[in-house]
Amino acid sequence: MESQVKLEFDELTIVFLSDGIWRNDGGCMFGVVPRELWRREHPADAQNRIRLNLTCPLILRGSDAILVDTGIGNRLSAVERKIFDHGEGWLIEGLRALGMEPGDITQVALSHLHFDHCGGIVRRRESGSFTPAFPRARILVQRGEIEIARNSRNERLRAAYRHVHECLEPVAGAIEALDGDTEIAPGVAAVVTGGHTADHQIVIAESNGQALVHLGDIVPTRSHMRGPWNQSYDLDAIRTMEVKAAYLERAVAARWWVSFAHDERVFAAQVAKDRGRMVLDAQIDVPTD
Ligand SMILES: [Zn+2]
Repeated sequence: MESQVKLEFDELTIVFLSDGIWRNDGGCMFGVVPRELWRREHPADAQNRIRLNLTCPLILRGSDAILVDTGIGNRLSAVERKIFDHGEGWLIEGLRALGMEPGDITQVALSHLHFDHCGGIVRRRESGSFTPAFPRARILVQRGEIEIARNSRNERLRAAYRHVHECLEPVAGAIEALDGDTEIAPGVAAVVTGGHTADHQIVIAESNGQALVHLGDIVPTRSHMRGPWNQSYDLDAIRTMEVKAAYLERAVAARWWVSFAHDERVFAAQVAKDRGRMVLDAQIDVPTD
């Protein structure tokens, strides 16, 4: 099982952890794409929700253990857990299955601050208070993302970031605000894309010509490799399309691996172009048990 969820590049090992399966509205996930098209690949339940993953690549290089995104975590209320059909604790369990503890994580790179990416940065204690989930990790997120998440008065943005105080305050001392593209560790970079949010960032991990790009919410599922298939949450869908096309072309040309933040079936894949369409080539499936 373990060998199926791991990529080994020269000096890097990338392990695909998951914070579990959840469900979200299919219309929100596919924006302008009609339901009749997306439901062939993502069947919806009676509430129009589709099954999604919470993929969190763990990049190991020397003494660095870099986690990319943290999933939803255990902070949701009982009502929210029902809405999103999410359990808890998968990410930490996955880490422990590797023989690691939360305290072993040295950096957490957050693509952006929506609840399904930063929720797991904190743990809700039985008392109801919050504690850092990864007590020794520096938390790397774009400064612009933090500022909008904390301060925007816009109604839509306020709703999208209503959890942010709860997630960021317990870890305030560990946050390292990034100003643009940044090398996190040798061969590992955070790169700003915009598109989904104004300061959304992706992570590229490279060693000796082999690379993985985690595109975050730019290409959340395999179906989103198609140009116009974008989430209705995207603040700048045109930018998402441009960034997506550029990175997927690069992935085809250089045989990069691409990981999907929310695909229920595929953690990561190498991609190829077949008659103008992006298709999966080699792939690493989400284990089913
Ligand atoms: Zn997301």
